[in-house]
Amino acid sequence: MPDGLAALRALGVELPRNVGFPFSGIRFLSGEKAVDACFPHGKGIGIRRTLLHQVLLHEASRLGVEMYWGARVAALEGGRITMDGRPVESKWLIAADGQNSAIRKWAGLDRGKTRRRRFGFRRHFQLEPWSEFVEISWSDRAQMYVTPVASDRICVALITGEQSLRFDDGLRLFPAVESHLQNAIPITHEQGALSPSRQLESVYSGNLALIGEASGSVDAITGDGLSLAFQQAVALAAAMRGENLSAYQSEHRRIAQLPRFMAEIMLAMDGRPRFRNRVFSALTANPALFERMLAVHTGAIPPLSFGARSAASLGWHLLTA
Ligand SMILES: Cc1cc2nc3c(=O)[nH]c(=O)nc-3n(C[C@H](O)[C@H](O)[C@H](O)COP(=O)(O)OP(=O)(O)OC[C@H]3O[C@@H](n4cnc5c(N)ncnc54)[C@H](O)[C@@H]3O)c2cc1C
Repeated sequence: MPDGLAALRALGVELPRNVGFPFSGIRFLSGEKAVDACFPHGKGIGIRRTLLHQVLLHEASRLGVEMYWGARVAALEGGRITMDGRPVESKWLIAADGQNSAIRKWAGLDRGKTRRRRFGFRRHFQLEPWSEFVEISWSDRAQMYVTPVASDRICVALITGEQSLRFDDGLRLFPAVESHLQNAIPITHEQGALSPSRQLESVYSGNLALIGEASGSVDAITGDGLSLAFQQAVALAAAMRGENLSAYQSEHRRIAQLPRFMAEIMLAMDGRPRFRNRVFSALTANPALFERMLAVHTGAIPPLSFGARSAASLGWHLLTA
């Protein structure tokens, strides 16, 4: 998302022009209804995570970071960290070990709220992107989103609250996407992960800070996972420079507020077909509302600037749709 790219730039990382695929905004689809909006500033970039990692690794190596590939980090009694069994001394310890962070558990930072757990699956296909938007299609049981990641490939992700639904069965809920994929060549296998909405009470303790999904997460429908991680990295670097991790705690909370709010708004439509229909009718009748919502989502305008008029207009459309 554009705000994630801005954070990446603030970290000194510029994505080379030839990686990924720029997209202009977001399109929502539900049955016959569609509404879309462009980002108010700049573009987003769809990129395979493997490629993004190469860019990040290149930049980190250039700055002198040493990597220990395949090393396993574990915690010992008494708060000591080991890497492949060897003790590690450090001024700071940053845990970026994902949603099941062992370091978080060891540090006693697991306390918090998990609002919901959904399931996400993705596959990549060799196919020229057909849209300048990331397209999010809605059905009664799941959402499917299509992200262009190169001039000849797309990523298709299914997100659902149903534990037993898998990619191929999920695809049948979205005939329009299915028809686009009819002659497309799958280039990756289905891979899935839990997509929890989790908020922790605290993201630091002593000289230890959590970052990325180790520090909590928002539902994958927001497309904000990595944007959050990059914004957190900017905030954490500033807090480390100031030798004050409590400043990271407050920035972390501030950064997560908006994506969490937007996720709640979007997921109010999940599993509620009549409400979803009303929202789609309201947004298609007044596409400027969707434009403003997207501007809020990407941080281009503060939520309060959504304005009483827009809120009243949305409310009126919801009532009359
Ligand atoms: C289906 C799906 C689609 C998504 N789509 C998007 C999207 O379009 N855009 C977006 O921004 N986000 C998306 N997300 C969310 C995104 O994937 C996450 O936000 C992101 O992966 C979190 O990154 P992370 O580095 O914090 O954690 P992870 O990616 O989980 O990385 C954690 C790493 O730590 C390593 N590790 C764990 N324990 C140890 C240990 N003890 N020792 C050493 N290493 C360890 C793991 O091997 C792993 O490499 C999606 C998620 C899902 C499930």
